Amino acid sequence: MKKTSEKRHLERAQAICLPDWLDPAPWLDAAQTTQSARVEAALASESPDITDFAALISPAAQPYLERMARRAQHLTRRHFGNTISLYVPLYLADHCSSGCSYCGFASDRERPRVKLGDEEIRRELATLKSMGFDETLLLTGDRHREADFNYLRHAVDLAADDMDLVAVETFTLKEEEYADLSRAGCSSVTLYQETYNPLVYFPTHRWGPKYDFMRRLAGPAAALAGGIRTVGLGVLLGLAPPVPDILSLFRHTTHLRKTYWKSGVAVSFPRIRPQLGDYAPAHPVGDSFLAQIIFAFRICLPDVPLVLSTRESARFRDGIAGVGISKMSIASRTTVGGYAENQDPHGGQFEISDERPVDAFCDALRAKGLEPVFKNWDAVYTDREERCDEAAQVARRVDA
Ligand code: SF4
Repeated sequence: MKKTSEKRHLERAQAICLPDWLDPAPWLDAAQTTQSARVEAALASESPDITDFAALISPAAQPYLERMARRAQHLTRRHFGNTISLYVPLYLADHCSSGCSYCGFASDRERPRVKLGDEEIRRELATLKSMGFDETLLLTGDRHREADFNYLRHAVDLAADDMDLVAVETFTLKEEEYADLSRAGCSSVTLYQETYNPLVYFPTHRWGPKYDFMRRLAGPAAALAGGIRTVGLGVLLGLAPPVPDILSLFRHTTHLRKTYWKSGVAVSFPRIRPQLGDYAPAHPVGDSFLAQIIFAFRICLPDVPLVLSTRESARFRDGIAGVGISKMSIASRTTVGGYAENQDPHGGQFEISDERPVDAFCDALRAKGLEPVFKNWDAVYTDREERCDEAAQVARRVDA
């Protein structure tokens, strides 16, 4: 049985042909360089490109970390001011039809499954609002009869009544479904590929809708084509050898920015955390390399929002806030709901690391001269009627 699934994963992986705009191969050598001259050239470049990016994530750049940090901080302040945008995740349901090895919600984990009803969603949103948040990220597991598209759309509708910015991190949708979510008031979609390496992707995403590598890859473009304003990309650091994945993430970001130039693309840097299932990272990424990756992204893509979640420790987050990172979550729970009743925050999708309350985190930001921003967007700009018209046009295009 095991051999059969291994064979199936391998066959699926070998059938994948990465599109030209994603393939990291031409830059792998530069990303392994030990020549400091290449790093000096990247740091001196006025408009760094992917060759410079590859040099900045190479071993040769490690002695330049402080210089990279100073440049990253300067660019972050130039493009985002002395601010850090804050958001909070709200898990709506932990039902899931997929089997990702690293996830506490995978369908083979033995746990009671729950989802929030309307009144519970309203209560959670009111609690988040009272904590100061105007932006929330709604999350579910993969598409499931208990938490399907209609459930998600309705939750977005409820959240858009209370929050100025509603984002979702959920299963891959069709373009017309993204258009429908946009019409309901969703502005942003986070959809990590997790790894761009098919040989790792298939055995790690063992079954369910997420097993479809190419469908997942097409998701962010479908969201933007459907009228969603910004998408968030990321790889789950620890799953696969990081350098090819980071190069592909950079290429995916630049490809979407070029193709959907009116839209926004943000990048996150999640690392695998302890979870029910005890999956341990096969390719762990240490703090120093993670910082190097973040600095390289900021230097080469100065105006792209870079996001860091509470997966990371308070110490790491305090150190890197404003030095590349421009957006952070805080007071997060990875359990379904739990804010209103102040339930035990442990035992969710994965364990978080920075457990500080909002006040303590904001104090730490201010001590660094940074201003926490709870409201970065006004709902008045998310004119649901106007989005309705745009979404209807997309739906008509798709139907045709
Ligand atoms: S990562 Fe998402 S899709 Fe995968 S098992 Fe967890 S909840 Fe389901």
